[in-house]
Amino acid sequence: MFQLELFSAEEFEARRPLPPGDKDGLQKLYNQIAATHGLPPARVEVTMRRATGGMIRYGPPHVIRVSGHMSTEDQRETLLHETAHAICHARWGPEEGHSKRFWEVARQLGVRRRSAPLTEQLKAVRQANARYVYRCIGCLSEWARRKPFRGGRLCAACLRKGHPARLILVRRPARKTVAL
Ligand SMILES: [Zn+2]
Ligand SMILES: [Zn+2]
Repeated sequence: MFQLELFSAEEFEARRPLPPGDKDGLQKLYNQIAATHGLPPARVEVTMRRATGGMIRYGPPHVIRVSGHMSTEDQRETLLHETAHAICHARWGPEEGHSKRFWEVARQLGVRRRSAPLTEQLKAVRQANARYVYRCIGCLSEWARRKPFRGGRLCAACLRKGHPARLILVRRPARKTVAL
């Protein structure tokens, strides 16, 4: 067993301010394609709550959310991706998903990406999740680390007070996948 020096949990990285995205432009783009393809109306939103990519909730009206953490070009392409879902929904129903013919529709709209871009925000979320959290069974203090300890550890604070106490692992890194 080794003595552990106290260190505080890492702060969530400070966010750099980002533009909210061209919501009106994306809405206009959807409306244009909807008009030529006979699609129901959709409400387009740019959200900072998604780290990357986008989603569609089928309506009517559909709701399309696009992550504001992406570049303008990626936001545009994500809107096209979600619009391809709207087209497939109109033609073949809600179960179409990312079928072969979905990707053909998406390609015709100008979609090149197959997956959501790795944004700074997504990196920050992954980094924050990639932590091992230990708790002292004596004083219940918690510490976060990027790497797990090898072997057992004692809480330095409790040891100083003459009550050696072990640290237990209470959280492992989470792995998340991001869908478009
Ligand atoms: Zn302790
Ligand atoms: Zn999709």
